[in-house]
Amino acid sequence: MKATQRLLIGGQWQDGEAEGFAKQDPVAGDTLWQGNAASEAQVGAAVEAARAAFPAWARRPFAERQALVERFREVLENHREDLATAIAGETGKPLWEARTEVGAMIGKVALSIRAYQERTGERERDLGGAQAVLRHRPHGVMAVFGPYNFPGHLPNGHMVPALLAGNTVVFKPSEQTPLTADLTLQCWREAGLPEGVINLVQGAAPVGQALSAHPDIDGLLFTGSAKVGGLLHKQFAGQMDKILALELGGNNPLVIKDVPDQDAAVLTILQSAFLSGGQRCTCARRLLVPEGQVGDHLLDALSDAISRLRVAGQFSEDAPFYGGLVSVAAADGLLAAQDDLEARGGTVLSRMERLEEGTSLLSPALVDVTGLELPDEEHFGPLLKVHRYRDWDEAIRLANDTRYGLSAGLVGGEREDWDDFLLRIRAGIVNWNRQTTGASGDAPFGGVGDSGNHRPSAYYAADYCAYPVASVESDEL
Ligand code: NAD
Repeated sequence: MKATQRLLIGGQWQDGEAEGFAKQDPVAGDTLWQGNAASEAQVGAAVEAARAAFPAWARRPFAERQALVERFREVLENHREDLATAIAGETGKPLWEARTEVGAMIGKVALSIRAYQERTGERERDLGGAQAVLRHRPHGVMAVFGPYNFPGHLPNGHMVPALLAGNTVVFKPSEQTPLTADLTLQCWREAGLPEGVINLVQGAAPVGQALSAHPDIDGLLFTGSAKVGGLLHKQFAGQMDKILALELGGNNPLVIKDVPDQDAAVLTILQSAFLSGGQRCTCARRLLVPEGQVGDHLLDALSDAISRLRVAGQFSEDAPFYGGLVSVAAADGLLAAQDDLEARGGTVLSRMERLEEGTSLLSPALVDVTGLELPDEEHFGPLLKVHRYRDWDEAIRLANDTRYGLSAGLVGGEREDWDDFLLRIRAGIVNWNRQTTGASGDAPFGGVGDSGNHRPSAYYAADYCAYPVASVESDEL
C-alpha cells in the first residue's frame, strides 16, 4: 500500500489545487514530500459530495452500515504494518507505539459498534392501539478534525460512530499526518466505502477554516488544541442546531500524597509525564510533591530514572521509551519553554537537551517551579513542572489551579484520601496509583473546563452522532 497526500472527494482521488504544504521527517527534519492543499472550492466540493451521499447512506439498514465497518476492521488487520510504519514515520513515535495505536484503532471499531447498539437501541412501548417508539436519526454531514499525535486512532474514534449512526463525513486530518489519513481512506475504500460517504481534504489551518465555516455541515467533531478548539467554539456560538464536540488539551496535575513504593511511584510518574514524549493529551504536566524528605527523595530518584530513559528515532531497533517530537520546530518550542521557566525563577532538576544536533530528539525536563506565578499552559512535550506543597488542602488547591480539566492523578494515600480527591478534583479522567495516560475502553474520555465541552468520545460518541426521536405510531387512523 503506497501512501500519498491526495484528497478523496466523491469517491475520486485528486490532487490539491491550493498553495503547497510540505511534511518534514519529524526527527531528522528533511522534507518527506511536498504537495498541494485542498482549495476552498475543493473543500466545498467535499461537503457537497458528503451531502449528496447522505440520504442513501442514512436509509441503509443499520446492519449494512455495521457490515461495512466490520469489513473496514478486517482490512485494517491486513494493513497493520503499513499503517504503523506511516504513523511512526510521520509522528516520530517509536514503531512499537505506532503498532499499539493501530491495535487501538482496530479495537475501537468493535467498541463503537457495541456502543452504538447499547446507547441507541430502539425501545417500544405498547400504548394500546399505538406504539411509542424511540428511534435515532443521524444529523447529516459531520466534519471530523484530527490531531497529529494519534492520527489513526483518534479520528477513527469519531468517524466510525458518525458513520454507524448514518452520517456522512468530511475528514480533515492534521497537516502533520497526511499519509496516515490517506492510508486510512484507502482501507475504507478497500472495505467497499460508497462514494462520498467519507471525503478527505488535506492541508493546514486554512483548510480547517474553510471546512469549519462551511454553512452546510451539521456538526464538527474536533480533537486538538484548546487554542483551535476555543476558536471553533466561538465560531459555532449561536448555531444551536449544530453539533460541536471538542476534545482538547490540559495542564494535568499528578499529586503525590506519600510514597509507599518508590520504584513504582517513579515508574508511574515517567509513564504519566513522558510516554509518547509527553505528546498525549492526558500526560501529567505538573507534579505536586509534599515538602520535606518524602518529596526530596522522590525527586532524586526521578532525576536518576530520567537520566537513564532511552530516547531514540522512531525506527530504532531497541524500542526506546519515546521517540522524536512531531517536528524539529516543536522541539525548539519545548527547549524555549524550559528557558522561559528558568528565566521566571524555575530550578531545572533534570535539563532537557537536544540529543542529536538538528533533530527533534529531546531528553526529558524536570523543573521545580514552586511558588512561581506561571501562565496556565500545556507544554506538549517531555517537560514536567514540580510544585512542592505544604499540606493536603494546598495540594488540591494547586491541582485545581488551572482553567483546564482533562486528567488528574493521585499516587499514595488511603481510600479516604482518594474519596476526597475524587470529590474535590476538577477533571474528566482520574487515576489512583496508575499513570494518567492511557485508553479508556468504554469509560467516558473527555474533560471539563477548557479541556472540552462535555461530549466524551469513544463509547459515548454514539450519543451525539445521532439524536433521539420519540414517535407515537399506529398503522390505523
Ligand atoms: P491543533 O489544534 O494544532 O490541530 C488540530 C486540527 O485543527 C488539525 O487538523 C489542524 O490542521 C486544525 N486547525 C489548526 N488551526 C485551525 C484553525 N484556525 N481553524 C480550523 N482548523 C484548524 O492540535 P495538534 O497540535 O494537532 O494536536 C495536539 C493537541 O491536541 C494538544 O493540545 C492535545 O492535548 C490535543 N489532544 C486532545 C485529545 C483529547 O482527546 N482531549 C487527544 C489528542 C490530542
